[in-house]
Amino acid sequence: MQYDVVVVGAGVSGLVAARLLTRRGLRVRVLEARDRVGGRTFSSQVDDAVFDLGGQWLGRGHARLEALAGELGVATYPQYTAGKRLMDAGGRVSSYAGTIPKLSPWKLLELQLTMMRLAKLTAQVDPRDPLAANNAAELDSVSLEHYARKWLRSRQSRDLLAAASRVVFGAEMSDVSMLYFLSYVRAGGGFEALIESDKGAQATRFIGGSQSIALALARELGAAVELSSPVRAIAQSERDVTVTTDKAAISARYAVLALPPALWSRIDFSPALPVLCEQLSQRSPMGATVKAFATYERAFWRSAGLSGEAVCDRGPVSVTFDATTHDGKRPALVAFIVGQDARTWSQRTEIERRGAVVGVFARLFGEQARTPRVYVDHDWSTEIWTRGCPVSVLGTGALSSCASAIRAPFGRVHIAGTESAREHTGYIEGAIEAAERVALEIAARG
Ligand SMILES: Cc1cc2nc3c(=O)[nH]c(=O)nc-3n(C[C@H](O)[C@H](O)[C@H](O)COP(=O)(O)OP(=O)(O)OC[C@H]3O[C@@H](n4cnc5c(N)ncnc54)[C@H](O)[C@@H]3O)c2cc1C
Repeated sequence: MQYDVVVVGAGVSGLVAARLLTRRGLRVRVLEARDRVGGRTFSSQVDDAVFDLGGQWLGRGHARLEALAGELGVATYPQYTAGKRLMDAGGRVSSYAGTIPKLSPWKLLELQLTMMRLAKLTAQVDPRDPLAANNAAELDSVSLEHYARKWLRSRQSRDLLAAASRVVFGAEMSDVSMLYFLSYVRAGGGFEALIESDKGAQATRFIGGSQSIALALARELGAAVELSSPVRAIAQSERDVTVTTDKAAISARYAVLALPPALWSRIDFSPALPVLCEQLSQRSPMGATVKAFATYERAFWRSAGLSGEAVCDRGPVSVTFDATTHDGKRPALVAFIVGQDARTWSQRTEIERRGAVVGVFARLFGEQARTPRVYVDHDWSTEIWTRGCPVSVLGTGALSSCASAIRAPFGRVHIAGTESAREHTGYIEGAIEAAERVALEIAARG
């Protein structure tokens, strides 16, 4: 059968693109490498409940995802934020209310000034065309680390910014081009929106887990979605594309790549990937994240007036949150090991990581944390169909040389996936925005 479109990747982006194209009356096939749909959303049984080992939150202002969840009947509930937050910095654990931890007056001033400077620079960068910013070349020639050193004299403030950016990108400040950072932050609605829970990107959770979205979309698409079918090759001519898996060669008028650029170059393209796409693929390393859960009999931190949210300036954990199920029946904490810590701890055993993570929980929330019912962690860098998480991290110079390849179709191949989003890049919301754009691009070609 000749298809109109073959979508490569059944993450949220690929599935939404397939849905929109199918609704336009096109014949669509979705090929997914894994034996499951959802990609970076992956909800799994841990202890006696389901937890999100991948993408978890519906952020404030993520209107497309909110609407889609409503349409698919996936219910949501607020992230638990009542009580005080903790900061583990300079070897001392202290509590605070609000977004910014308790700091000495001059450190606070320095941090607030930095936020203002960041907001000013962010406003100058348009994620649709970051190279159009006045000082784009200069901003892309240095890393976020460079600006952190320039703006923040205090080590503690720098460490806090490093922990925050580590969690957003799964990377160190020195890994991230300042221009890419600003573009990403602007696409996400500002730095505070990215790091906030109740007012930001960590506001709301899905009952049954975020993978419910992809599972519901796949149910709707039925036999059009083929699992365990890694795409090995894409050949295109003037008239069509041929997408080859280990089982079949499928012809279509167009193909959609709904995967991070780091995975593009694993596919054998004929003719070869355009040079800028090839370069972008090579210059888009994924962040590094190990997400760890511990379940408990009681939410003892809540009884102590704590929200479960903590930021830590030393490894291996950078942040923690309450991860208790919506009905409160299975109390849990989640910890993020990110950036260099994730790379380092990825090489250790799960038992060693368990000791370290539970040790951090105990330092923050008390000795009861030391004896979870169940501990589970998920190391995204070992997933061959993702290669790291949560998102691609562009270092210095990558945007300047390859920005035009981020979402430009080449021949009959179109680009979806959250990395190509113009809004909320890196988030599930961005995956949907990119899918909507691709569906319009293909529809416009007739
Ligand atoms: C630990 C973690 C925490 C996160 N937290 C959040 C959060 O709280 N909120 C939020 O909004 N976002 C979060 N994210 C990011 C979010 O999950 C992603 O932005 C989103 O799921 C990306 O969707 P996508 O469809 O663009 O890509 P993906 O989900 O990566 O989908 C790509 C698909 O392509 C498949 N594939 C790859 N290569 C091939 C091939 N050759 N042939 C066929 N198929 C292939 C993959 O298996 C995958 O299914 C998080 C991610 C992680 C991992």
